[in-house]
Amino acid sequence: MTDYECKMTRFPEPVLGKKARPIEVIDESIRALAERMKEIMVDNKGVGLAGPQAGVDLRIFVVSTDGTRENAKVYINPKIEPGGGLTENEEGCLSLPGIWGKIKRYKKCTVTATDLDGNEFTEEGEGLLARAFQHEYDHLEGIMIKDRLSAAAKLRARRQLRKLQAESSGPGE
Ligand SMILES: [Zn+2]
Repeated sequence: MTDYECKMTRFPEPVLGKKARPIEVIDESIRALAERMKEIMVDNKGVGLAGPQAGVDLRIFVVSTDGTRENAKVYINPKIEPGGGLTENEEGCLSLPGIWGKIKRYKKCTVTATDLDGNEFTEEGEGLLARAFQHEYDHLEGIMIKDRLSAAAKLRARRQLRKLQAESSGPGE
């Protein structure tokens, strides 16, 4: 059993740009990790958080579309099947503070994942939930909203990305 040291990660932490690894055994350490991830999500006023955002390169995310801990659900080794055509909406990311942009996502999304008891389940999402599934799944593939912005929005985000980069390489690191 490993205890995962969790902390909120921000661009350009390398773990955010990597494909995360499947979780092989769901044990106490994974349950503790999930609880910690819910906490980080709520503390940062997010509606979702993926493993890499907690500094852990494992295929797990939590989603709570109203941002509450009670409604936070855990998805382990998720597979997603988006559908229903594309729609564009404003999106931000806890790991990219200060960056917002219109991102195209599918209107609907079906997730098949494993829960903390090791049972597989399937859930269908629409609207914000479908968007959250696609956003969090992207994190497991090492993809962030900065990679999905339009060319013009990418240009606008450049200064903020540089700022985040400069902050991470500041004194003491
Ligand atoms: Zn994000």
